[in-house]
Amino acid sequence: MDYSLPRGTQDILPDEVDYWNFVEKTAKKIFDLYNFNEIRTPIFESSQLFNRVISESDIVKKEMYTFTDIGNRDLALRPEGTAPVARAFITNNLNRSPQHSKLFYQGPMFRYERPQAGRYRQFHQIGVESIGSDHPFSDAEVITMSYRLFSSLGLKNIKIYINSVGSDTCRPVIEARIKQFLASNLSQLSENLQEKFKHNPLKMLDSKDETLQTYLSGLPDMREALSQQSKDHFNFVISYLDHLNIPFEYKPTLVRGLDYYTETVFEVVSEDLGAQNSICGGGRYNNLIKNLGGSHTPAVGFAFGIERLIMLLKKQNISLPNQPILVYIAALGKEYQMECIHIAEDLRNLGLRVTIDYNKIDFNSHIKLSQKMEASYMIIFGEDEFDNKTLSIKDLHKRKQESIPASNLIPYFESLTGLTYV
Ligand code: AMP
Repeated sequence: MDYSLPRGTQDILPDEVDYWNFVEKTAKKIFDLYNFNEIRTPIFESSQLFNRVISESDIVKKEMYTFTDIGNRDLALRPEGTAPVARAFITNNLNRSPQHSKLFYQGPMFRYERPQAGRYRQFHQIGVESIGSDHPFSDAEVITMSYRLFSSLGLKNIKIYINSVGSDTCRPVIEARIKQFLASNLSQLSENLQEKFKHNPLKMLDSKDETLQTYLSGLPDMREALSQQSKDHFNFVISYLDHLNIPFEYKPTLVRGLDYYTETVFEVVSEDLGAQNSICGGGRYNNLIKNLGGSHTPAVGFAFGIERLIMLLKKQNISLPNQPILVYIAALGKEYQMECIHIAEDLRNLGLRVTIDYNKIDFNSHIKLSQKMEASYMIIFGEDEFDNKTLSIKDLHKRKQESIPASNLIPYFESLTGLTYV
């Protein structure tokens, strides 16, 4: 029997979880500032939901983890978060809420991809969806929020690329222009690209194929193919970002992976990440909710991958916020352990992290362990302390030790930490 870790997944061990908490907490804090509220949807949904929103030509469709349950239902582990949130919006009549719905989610996503650095089969995303407003302010707001989030995490060399793929009416015009432009070179392109040319020429724009890229280099500005309304929308988003000094770059070849995007699309990339350089992607999707059976509800959102973000934090040597101090309590003999439990509980009431090792009773093994655990203080309680009603407190960073009256424990740590006993 093979109990090894499934390919493309990973265990997230306690040291690593500190990074996850940092990212998740910072994201929640930023989303809260913009009044976005959390939504939690199931990890599996009906396969049809994703089949409906992800087009046949999309690779994500081939990568889905689908299964039939005992009741013969076709289900899929969610490959992305937007379709489930849109489904939840419809299921729960969130269109009746007083303001448009500003939601965020986080959790695992599943895609049967070829694993490599920064690419997993189970990965985690945090995403936001601003549902019910077609105002360009909403596009700009989510882009601004993503920028604020990545800056708050301390990231450097971050760039926002932005483009517009226009509305339903612009799309055929844009596609026709791409086709017209590439028609004479079509026979030089791979079969796969010729397929794209036929079914989804827009997707050719962000292809990594070098021959295609050289053909595309002279492509006229696609903004010209947008309707006046789409142009106005896009220009408004841009002027808002300018107004707030958000660094962005217009990237005419930017199109998003999934087909449901309309109007603004954007991507946050880091030049430090190598091949998988995209940290966050998003855009407007005005037709998705209607396609899923809801009423016409314009929306805009983004999602980012936590694993890739953490890779970047490490690469940029961004240190985590200081951990709360850890106090290690050392009983020098089994007969002193009960008293140590009291001391520990008292310090926990003060809000301190406290640990005791019940298997060690001599000073040397306590000191070794406390240092390995990177504790800040060690409280020593043995025969002398018991007889004199004192406690010995060792500052493990400064390597200084002092003796205090046992009754002074709480005021001593209150003045050290600024915490208050509750
Ligand atoms: P997407 O949903 O494909 O637009 O991806 C949004 C973000 O999720 C990307 O920018 C990545 O950070 C992350 N991501 C997508 N696929 C994977 C994967 N297989 N493994 C790790 N992160 C991923």
